[in-house]
Amino acid sequence: MLEIKNLHVDFEGLRGKTEALKNMNLSLNNGEILGIVGESGSGKSITALSILGLLEENAIISKGKIIYNGVNILELSKKDIQALRGKEIGMVFQEPMTALQPTMKIGKQLFNVIKQHRRLSTKETKEAVLHALREVHIDQPELVARKYPFELSGGMRQRIVIALAMAAPPNLLIADEPTTALDVTIQYEIINLIKELNDKRGTSVLLITHDLGVVANVCDRILVMYAGEVVESGSTKQVLNNPIHPYTKSLLAALPDSVEPHQPLQAIEGEPPNLLKRPKGCAFSERCHYVMDICKEEHPELKDGESNHQVSCWLEKVIV
Ligand code: SF4
Ligand code: MG
Repeated sequence: MLEIKNLHVDFEGLRGKTEALKNMNLSLNNGEILGIVGESGSGKSITALSILGLLEENAIISKGKIIYNGVNILELSKKDIQALRGKEIGMVFQEPMTALQPTMKIGKQLFNVIKQHRRLSTKETKEAVLHALREVHIDQPELVARKYPFELSGGMRQRIVIALAMAAPPNLLIADEPTTALDVTIQYEIINLIKELNDKRGTSVLLITHDLGVVANVCDRILVMYAGEVVESGSTKQVLNNPIHPYTKSLLAALPDSVEPHQPLQAIEGEPPNLLKRPKGCAFSERCHYVMDICKEEHPELKDGESNHQVSCWLEKVIV
């Protein structure tokens, strides 16, 4: 249903051109949950914003296509993209307050969205509001519908945002760090809720996160990004049980063994490269324990391995 082909996104700035996304490719099938994982600045959000037509003014899409149900989104007018965003593609971002109207009651916000997209009478819309709240496990929907966003906890607000995003109802849900601002236990509840809605409704989901631990269990496939490029992709099993790229390996090594809230995360040493001046060879070479001469000279392309497990690393070639 969604395919990104060779997408390149640059940002024009005072200090020059930043290559934020380089040769991005992904495909998302109907009903699938695809996880996009990487550190901040790896191009995950830029990918999401490109699909949604929400890139900033100084962004330049220099190459590529984003095909959604047979249509190249990049060729649509602003108005058509906007229509797609409301109706076909739902979105959930990190901070729930940005998606909520602070001065409008929850019930009214849901009412407006449902009324706009579905042909229902006023009475039916009111029932749909309560149903939407129950679907995201809000216990007392009548009571919560009468509250303002500030009267609710962060986790409750994110549930409401998910209810709003799913109201149209969309075919695709893009969730960009939907749990990052929340407590650990709430994070799992929210991710499980997304998985539940995916199961129940068949909505495809693009789940973007820096935290592989939180999303691992619910994704069908995982795509690992580094410095604006995909460095590894495959089924969740392939990526978690048989990671090949050294960056994926260090992401996995950095995961805590349990979900104890106060366990410190082991950070990966070093910094991602400056995207104003990309390294000639592998973008991970400065931080990689396995770096070889060729890594600094030549850029490794993403290569197909066993059953669609793709990796961009010179090491992989050496091993296979
Ligand atoms: Fe490390 Fe070389 Fe592989 Fe890059 S290409 S990840 S530097 S081994
Ligand atoms: Mg981001």
